[in-house]
Amino acid sequence: MSHITFLKSLLEAAGPTGYEERAASVWLAEAATFADQTYKDRYGNSFAVLNPDAKTTIMLSGHIDEIGVIVTHVDSDGLIYFQGLGGWDPQVLVGQRIRLMAEEGDILAVVGKKAIHLMDSDERSKASKIDDLWLDAALPAEEVKTRVKVGTAGRIEQPVLFSGRKIISPALDNRIGAYVVLEALKRMKELGFKERVVAVASSQEEIGAWGARVAAHSLNPDLALTVDLCFESKAPGINVKKLGESEFGSGTAITVGPFIHPAVAKGLQDAATQHKLKYTLNAAKNHTATDADEIHLIRSGVPGAVLSIPSRYMHSPNEIVDLDDVDNTIELMAQYVLGIQDYRFIR
Ligand SMILES: [Zn+2]
Repeated sequence: MSHITFLKSLLEAAGPTGYEERAASVWLAEAATFADQTYKDRYGNSFAVLNPDAKTTIMLSGHIDEIGVIVTHVDSDGLIYFQGLGGWDPQVLVGQRIRLMAEEGDILAVVGKKAIHLMDSDERSKASKIDDLWLDAALPAEEVKTRVKVGTAGRIEQPVLFSGRKIISPALDNRIGAYVVLEALKRMKELGFKERVVAVASSQEEIGAWGARVAAHSLNPDLALTVDLCFESKAPGINVKKLGESEFGSGTAITVGPFIHPAVAKGLQDAATQHKLKYTLNAAKNHTATDADEIHLIRSGVPGAVLSIPSRYMHSPNEIVDLDDVDNTIELMAQYVLGIQDYRFIR
């Protein structure tokens, strides 16, 4: 499978937070083509391992879940009410189609909202809340009530688009991270890496990085690298004075700050310089809002860093990233880990 074919299948598979199985099975099938070992745990995390018997463990984490919805009520008319799984801006849900992963087969439903003609001027000027919206499957009420149970999860239905080197999909946060860690693992294998390295497609990041916590505890890594998205800085409304610059094509944003091990962040910058890879720096004043926030805190603490890929329209039906930044991050991750001569600096 070419890398792009794998990435496309990974993005197409539904994986709302807590319901990652479909995306995880695409990831595990690809992992099984080259990894020494693959497995999943009871918490929805998927693992791909190189050199399982080596002494030093490096964890590469990219969460595979995406934000989604969960059904809270189906009324007597067959209209479906829901809450968000993860942080939605309800404005971007309006007018979308939702794939509901019902037990006996998926159902497509549209997000319903009162038509503009029927709103008074006060209503027109107000932002929508999730509580004001519903899902309409355009099916007979009895059929909806039979097929859609409370607790059914769903995700935005939008095709993956490729535009030049850009990819557009609602699942880039953070399916792209899960892709990067597996491709980095593949690259480390090609380059003959000898330590135990584990790529993790972690679950439930969007509601608190819970999968990463469980995975890190079981792996007990000596070093952890987390991949997620950051904000592309040429997009309107981005305050570069606060967020720094990380435009499309600028490579990998390396987080620096109190939550990041300084030697790991420095090592990543040195590896980028040595291998002519691009990077920018992204300062986090406290926690990082990624898997790293849980991974770094388990057991006696795990040294680690966060690598981010610039993106536009995060948590919307049309997130965008640049494949050059994605490839840069894969290579940087692999080259940094390969270049570590002595792990005592983080022990
Ligand atoms: Zn997110």
